[in-house]
Amino acid sequence: MPRPITATIDLAALVHNLGVARAHARHAKVFAVIKANAYGHGLLRVAQALRAADGFAVVEFDAAVRLREAGFSQRILLLEGFFDEREMVEGAARKIATVVHRPGQIAMLGGLPPPSRLDVLLKINSGMNRLGFAPGDAGKVYAALQDCPAVGKITLMTHFADADDARGVDWQMQAFEHAAAGIAAPRSLANSAATLRYPQTHFDWVRPGIMLYGSSPFAEVSAAALGLRPAMTLRSEIIGCCDLKPGDTVGYGGMFCAERPMRIGIVACGYADGYPRHAPNGTPVRVGDVMTGTVGRVSMDKLCIDITAMPEAGVGTPVVLWGEGNPVDDVAQAAGTVSYELLCALAARVRVVEPD
Ligand SMILES: *Cc1c(COP(=O)(O)O)cnc(C)c1O
Repeated sequence: MPRPITATIDLAALVHNLGVARAHARHAKVFAVIKANAYGHGLLRVAQALRAADGFAVVEFDAAVRLREAGFSQRILLLEGFFDEREMVEGAARKIATVVHRPGQIAMLGGLPPPSRLDVLLKINSGMNRLGFAPGDAGKVYAALQDCPAVGKITLMTHFADADDARGVDWQMQAFEHAAAGIAAPRSLANSAATLRYPQTHFDWVRPGIMLYGSSPFAEVSAAALGLRPAMTLRSEIIGCCDLKPGDTVGYGGMFCAERPMRIGIVACGYADGYPRHAPNGTPVRVGDVMTGTVGRVSMDKLCIDITAMPEAGVGTPVVLWGEGNPVDDVAQAAGTVSYELLCALAARVRVVEPD
């Protein structure tokens, strides 16, 4: 038996979640966002499962190339654009579309040798204040792109900062509408939260990411309530047990101290597997049908769980760190982070399996 930690990727759940996105944004096409190795789920595995998507969006140029080389022929979009001339030239040859968010990229496009052409998404900064052109410059930039022989189709794009929380999208929609007034081009605005909550943002292309993996973009709404199914289940086993007397501590730094007699299970999963080291005592772990929690500090290869109430648990008992029956959103919330960070951080040493 190899070390028992595995991440199961449920391909049917991915397909199901894409269906949820489509049900919300019926009239829009879907860029399935598969940056960061498909949020830790495996680029080509996820692309294959989601091949019904109208397009794929990535950040990494080599991921775009791998998709083309694997035979995917739908639109592929680089969310931060190309970073140098080589990427631009090869991107054009491979028909990879690119975000354009700063003047230097337009200047570089001017040097693309004909007859090469790139489809571009003109990114407008509607309030996120990371990348993109100021709304007041959109008309000028659009005209410059139209004048550039190397530019094919132009789509207008922006990204929401608060589509998942109370501030919503209206304030950014106003800035975007101001920028886009009078420009007859397709539009791509919505991330998962906006796809699920704000139909007025759907337009021509939506860009769902996290929802495809079965996690909720909203702190106060569960993935299950949104009809989403977890795509990744991180499993391991108890590889040792330990009885504690009152006053005994667990692990590095004595972060947990038993107040009563306890039995703990030592699970083969640590921060070198991608489990968050800052998870506090009580971070949810599922053992069979029973929920329990972590005790003590997560170490590199191991974490400890309370199995006092589970006399039948012992070496070899399977546990679910997150996924089916233990939403990654709950684990992330306990650990003071978001599911995105946990999923993306799945370590290369964790064996990935697909259910049959
Ligand atoms: C990552 C990303 C998305 C997807 O966001 P989710 O919150 O995962 O749905 C959409 N658009 C852009 C520009 C992104 O960088």
